[in-house]
Amino acid sequence: MSQSLFSNRYKRRQSIALISDHGDPAADIGREEAGGQNVYVRQVGEALARLGWQVDMFTRKSNADDPTIVQHTPHCRTIRLKAGPEEFVSRDEIFQYMPEFLASFKAFQTKEGVIYPLVHSNYWMSAWVGLQLKASQGAQLIHTYHSLGAVKYQSVLTQPDIVTTRLLVEQAALEQSDCVVATSPQEMEHLRSLVSTEGTIEIIPCGTDTSNFKRISRSQARGKLDISLRDQVILYVGRFDPRKGIETLVRAVGKLRADDPEAPLRLMIVGGSEPGQSDGLERVRIEGIVEELGIQDCTVFAGRVGHDQLPLFYTAADVCVIPSHYEPFGLVAIEAMACGTPVVASDVGGLKFTVIPEETGLLVPAQDVSGFAGAIDRLLSDSLWTQKVRRKAALRVQENFSWEGVAIQLSDLYRRSLAQSIAQPEVVQAAAYRKAS
Ligand code: UDP
Repeated sequence: MSQSLFSNRYKRRQSIALISDHGDPAADIGREEAGGQNVYVRQVGEALARLGWQVDMFTRKSNADDPTIVQHTPHCRTIRLKAGPEEFVSRDEIFQYMPEFLASFKAFQTKEGVIYPLVHSNYWMSAWVGLQLKASQGAQLIHTYHSLGAVKYQSVLTQPDIVTTRLLVEQAALEQSDCVVATSPQEMEHLRSLVSTEGTIEIIPCGTDTSNFKRISRSQARGKLDISLRDQVILYVGRFDPRKGIETLVRAVGKLRADDPEAPLRLMIVGGSEPGQSDGLERVRIEGIVEELGIQDCTVFAGRVGHDQLPLFYTAADVCVIPSHYEPFGLVAIEAMACGTPVVASDVGGLKFTVIPEETGLLVPAQDVSGFAGAIDRLLSDSLWTQKVRRKAALRVQENFSWEGVAIQLSDLYRRSLAQSIAQPEVVQAAAYRKAS
């Protein structure tokens, strides 16, 4: 009896596909090109499954030894599709394998006896796949950009050949998707001013796991990480990529050190792969700058740290610095704030939305070394104000940026989108349910 009840419930679940070409939701985060997109898809996927959807998350198989299917929870799994060599391929090289990705996706549907009535694509290459599925199967298409070529290539001097294709797909995604999800008002403005005035956009922010990233005892966190209570800890968390602006932070710390050689500064840089991976070049470059400034004694390269341990790092820090040249959203900002850690961030993109200057941290023009040094110094020096900032930062995240809240908004958008497709008889209706076995 209970068995049949369960299987009936299972059959009633609406299947949806999240597509994330290069951001493997089951990957270790922080390495090579694994960052916010991977976290977003995985967290949103699991939260949507908790809300009653059957969530299949598709990504490109980038390592022959990785399992093809990873079951995260009973109704949420990652499916790795064959598309090009089963090895790491940099983002700029992946688009050529998208037709094979699409063919593998369709073959998977046939094998499983399912057609997804709603596809949520992530990043422009997945949008291309989503647009093909919309055209051939009538799928409702929701798209999140994660990064906008139109913004990124404004400031890049040498543009890879793929840029023209990317810009065209990004425009088609906005004009032809059923809805584009902008993660901040700033991203929405960029979409309208740089991509197209056509198409539907809704703002649904990124989130964070507020049961994991929350305020805990600072002295205990420092004890566990073997950091003295006297130290002034400045934290960076993220990938090693020149656009992340780690150089600006390192130079700012060099300036603070030069201004006050006795200050107990400690710079902790979290993230990055083992030597020999594609992001190693940037790490070597940053290590070179640390040496040039003579701040090796107060700088720690902690390597990649999982979300299970990251709350300790955020809590132990006096300030978390996000010196990105551009950031569409910036998950690290809300993770740090959720732990009650003030943020000093570049005054760009989604960081302008998440960080409230003077209340949850400070914003500084990107790449402004003196500006970053001054802002970090203010947060290290004024303990009364910093206590208030800590409280407000944690509150802001609890109230606005939980994954549950994000998933509820996405779920509502999916339901409206599916309802609209039913109301339009000319749209090919896709079979939404798994075949009864
Ligand atoms: N991250 C991690 N371990 C690391 C470095 C980064 O888990 O060692 C995670 C970090 O906690 C965040 C994500 O990677 O969830 C980075 O997302 P963000 O939006 O800040 O930057 P992106 O990588 O998307 O540019």
